[in-house]
Amino acid sequence: MFNVRLTRMARVIETLILIAAIPIVAGHFGYRRRDQYVWQRNFKLCGGKLQSPVSISSSTSKSIPVPLPALETIGYHDFLPTPLYLRNGGHSVLINIHDHPRRRLPCIFGGSLDPNHEYEMDHLHFHWGAKNDRGSEHVLNGVRYPMEMHIVHRNKVYSNFSSALDHKNGLAVLGIFFQLQEEDNELLNPVVKALKDVQLLNEQVKLNAPLALASLLPNGLDVFYTYKGSLTTPPCSEAVTWIIFPSPTPISFSQKTAKSRTQESVCTKTEFIFVCRIQRNDR
Ligand SMILES: [Zn+2]
Repeated sequence: MFNVRLTRMARVIETLILIAAIPIVAGHFGYRRRDQYVWQRNFKLCGGKLQSPVSISSSTSKSIPVPLPALETIGYHDFLPTPLYLRNGGHSVLINIHDHPRRRLPCIFGGSLDPNHEYEMDHLHFHWGAKNDRGSEHVLNGVRYPMEMHIVHRNKVYSNFSSALDHKNGLAVLGIFFQLQEEDNELLNPVVKALKDVQLLNEQVKLNAPLALASLLPNGLDVFYTYKGSLTTPPCSEAVTWIIFPSPTPISFSQKTAKSRTQESVCTKTEFIFVCRIQRNDR
């Protein structure tokens, strides 16, 4: 296994693109300045210089093509340990992964991540909007996709999620855009069908079908954008190596609508202003 990994690490993909972090400007993503002020007042890091999300441009004046080792995954084709629960966390719908003593959790390494460091999956969550052109958090070449998924990984050097937040190399997040199409994406059905049961804050439901991370990924992982950034929600810790894939995963109109219903319902039930705001993906 180790030799295999060394061989893979030595592989260099010429087409990877590295972009410099672009400091976010208040209002740049359409959210109100007074909301941003509330974030910074309550969570000082939200006023930092490496805040995410960012607007990504493939033009050579803003992004720099860099040869990097391939980004490698371990366990992405295996079913996630069960039971798996879908939970409405207020600002997004999450799938938390509970460690299983006999099963290794999915990991990533290589790419722009610190050499010799492995990042283990912690959870995944979705961001979307009521309107199809306002869902994703990152913007790619001026396009805002209807939905964006974040697969959050913790650097295994750190024993838990909260300690990882204190380090620049603490987390690695894969960002995957979703693009609308007519036909259902059958691979998404385990998640979409469970959404009707988590329309309110903190509601949780067990997924009835097994789920492998690879089924949620787009084709072509060799090209990605990467930068050093932050959590996109408070506490806004600047501990994230972002890896954003430009190729989107397909989702049908009806599947996306199921998600939108969940978002709107929760938004009216909570009194946390920024929770509501994030649900609209105004950040
Ligand atoms: Zn996120």
